[in-house]
Amino acid sequence: MAAETVVTAAGIDDPWLNAQRQFDAAADVLNLDQGVRSILREPQRQLTVNFPVKMDDGSVRVFEGYRVQHNLVRGPAKGGIRYHAEVTLSEVKALAMWMTWKCAATGIPFGGAKGGVIVDPKRLSRSELERLTRRYASEISVLIGPERDIPAPDVNTTPQVMAWIMDTVSMAAGYSVPAVVTGKPLSVGGSQGRNAATGRGVAIVALQACRRLDREPTGSTVAVQGFGNAGSIAAGLMADDGFSIRAVSDSAGGIYSEQGLDIKAVIEHKQRTGSVVGFPGTRPISNAELLEAPVDVLVPAALENQITASNAGRVKASLILEAANGPTTPDADDILVRRGVTVVPDIVANAGGVIVSYFEWVQDLQSLFWEENEINKRLEHIITGAFNSSWEASKRLGVPLRLGAYAVSVERVAEATMVRGIYP
Ligand code: NAD
Repeated sequence: MAAETVVTAAGIDDPWLNAQRQFDAAADVLNLDQGVRSILREPQRQLTVNFPVKMDDGSVRVFEGYRVQHNLVRGPAKGGIRYHAEVTLSEVKALAMWMTWKCAATGIPFGGAKGGVIVDPKRLSRSELERLTRRYASEISVLIGPERDIPAPDVNTTPQVMAWIMDTVSMAAGYSVPAVVTGKPLSVGGSQGRNAATGRGVAIVALQACRRLDREPTGSTVAVQGFGNAGSIAAGLMADDGFSIRAVSDSAGGIYSEQGLDIKAVIEHKQRTGSVVGFPGTRPISNAELLEAPVDVLVPAALENQITASNAGRVKASLILEAANGPTTPDADDILVRRGVTVVPDIVANAGGVIVSYFEWVQDLQSLFWEENEINKRLEHIITGAFNSSWEASKRLGVPLRLGAYAVSVERVAEATMVRGIYP
């Protein structure tokens, strides 16, 4: 029986219940065995840690963090770490489950995990951030490791944060353990192409979707919500492919230009001022307005639950590429499907990051590093394959693209579960 979406005290859809609802829909389409369904519907492990950090003024603050491993049946768990004031266990569980499907949709040999700490890192000094990261890494070290669970960057975590995690684990081991995290700086075993990989994957998927929908990328108009790692790089590469990026935003607000934005200049402006807001020659728009902007393609690249039942009816774009995880609620999905909007789901659209993270892990284990064009070529091959199998499944089963992608990935995880059998 499918779970109902509930509205939490915060007034937003609960991401975990949304994730379960998406899974239930796929399990129904696949007529999944009841036992397998009940295994895959819950996370395998979830750890909550409360840990102290010495602040610069000498006081001690206790932070709460999580590491959730949804599934390890196809290989070690994989998933990013998020630092955000509004992180919840429900959100981390949902993100972990989505990682399981993402790794299966792309065929890479990982299960799904995610981590998070309730903190606004912008309010910490660099040394406080380092101490918080190192202590959180120690607390979750009972779960992570190159053969067990490999974190990566997510919202507000950077290559530097990954380097501190790698160093903390390495100090405990007594030798360097680069393969314990991905998204590291190149100097400590990072991979060429990893920083741009999520945005690059979005741009590749944009071209593939245009091809399937018989549309011209050149001149197609685009709005991008969230101008961080995923959003800014996707915007820049899509502009290189001829798309006209009309609107972008970050947590401080958005900007709109009828002529299209010079993305390199907007990136420089954000680096200089901390936000896209105030970029010359544009008019300000709110994040809510950006989602309803008059464009052909919408790229949500910020957080979950941005396209909901209350605004889905007003979205003008006819193609949505989910660079963020979980930006569309299941109720909004139903509205978009009825309106004929094509949604390329997160588990395919933003899979570029985990694909190149997989390459980084392989390179670290082999101590043999590849060139960037090799990485980008392999990334394109894998993400295009994931897009095509999702598209074909959606046509074969007569279901929307998200459900097509889920059918492919849930079936792969279910098959691995059944062939391994139930221990003992
Ligand atoms: P990031 O921290 O680099 O950037 C996040 C951006 O979103 C920032 O510009 C921030 O200002 C903006 N933002 C935050 N709240 C917002 C709001 N309410 N409205 C508009 N903008 C807002 O994070 P990121 O790594 O780019 O992650 C963004 C999304 O992409 C997340 O959903 C993440 O899970 C997903 N994702 C990231 C990766 C990756 O490799 N970094 C991979 C797959 C998926």
